[in-house]
Amino acid sequence: MLAVTLHAPGEIQVENIPDPILDSPTDAVVQVVCSAVCGTDLGSFSGVDPVVPGQRMGHEFLGVVHDVGSAVAGVKLGDLVVAPLSWSDGNCEFCRKGLQTACVVGGEWGGRNQGGQAEAVRVPHADGTLLRLPGSVDSELFPALLTLSDVMAAGHHAVLSANVQPGDTVAVVGDGAMGLCAILAARRRRAGRVIMLGAHRPRLDVALRFGATDLITAREDAAIAEVLDLTGGSGADAVIDTFGSRQSLMTAIGVARAGACVGYVGVTHQATWIDIHKMVRRNISLCGGLPPARAYMPELLPEILSGHLDPSPVFDLTVPLSDAARGYTEMAARSAIKALLRP
Ligand SMILES: [Zn+2]
Repeated sequence: MLAVTLHAPGEIQVENIPDPILDSPTDAVVQVVCSAVCGTDLGSFSGVDPVVPGQRMGHEFLGVVHDVGSAVAGVKLGDLVVAPLSWSDGNCEFCRKGLQTACVVGGEWGGRNQGGQAEAVRVPHADGTLLRLPGSVDSELFPALLTLSDVMAAGHHAVLSANVQPGDTVAVVGDGAMGLCAILAARRRRAGRVIMLGAHRPRLDVALRFGATDLITAREDAAIAEVLDLTGGSGADAVIDTFGSRQSLMTAIGVARAGACVGYVGVTHQATWIDIHKMVRRNISLCGGLPPARAYMPELLPEILSGHLDPSPVFDLTVPLSDAARGYTEMAARSAIKALLRP
């Protein structure tokens, strides 16, 4: 089968590798229908994050169950499923708390593990990991459903972590797919005003479509000044950072109202220092972390199926799996927001 691998920064290859097979009774093998390139995949592609030569790529995929181990009860051959960004057993202390990203037997796709950017994937702990979709789902909904793997779930996690309340003014730092999904998630929580801090016109157009009320294209101190100006000098009630760099976090902290929470969903692998003195006097807290997408899928799924929630506009480029390198290149050049890959 074909699978995307990374050999050095910028060196994406689509290689022929052995088909995945069951390794444990709790495994399933999923034939991938569509997968995606994530902003976090760009970390290693651009050389910001370390590269394991030949590493597998991708942690978002939707597909059809092709084989199941003898202990798998929750999915069967032919089921349409979507996988979250990490696998988990659904049974341990952390899974039961809805923190599947901390599962004691869990793991993450990519690197030395299986990757979602492939024609097929072996899924450990299939019962805890995979979300079964209704068999009758229209394939037009596949891109929206694929966002449950990561970006829509991450936007939702950031909004919950930032404790967004109805009527709140919410500031979202970062105009990537995750930031855009955070706007949808803030709207779901009936936020009043949603201020998007971003820089790229096509992304800002999607931000408006998703419900952003104000756009700020300035950066750092100038952006902070504009948000303060828009909020009567106090700052936003809740702030979301989806980028995770020192600069984005300091902007997020700078635009937060006293007592507000900054929800974050990850950080870059670069050393990320934040100035806690900027937080302490105004009681700003920082909440969040790796999004437990599996916990949120059951809640978000019906809204996507009914069309009330449609994150699919984050995919503005579709390429065949064999041309995955183009997806990476265009996203790195900011000429695409997010690439959908079809085997
Ligand atoms: Zn677990």
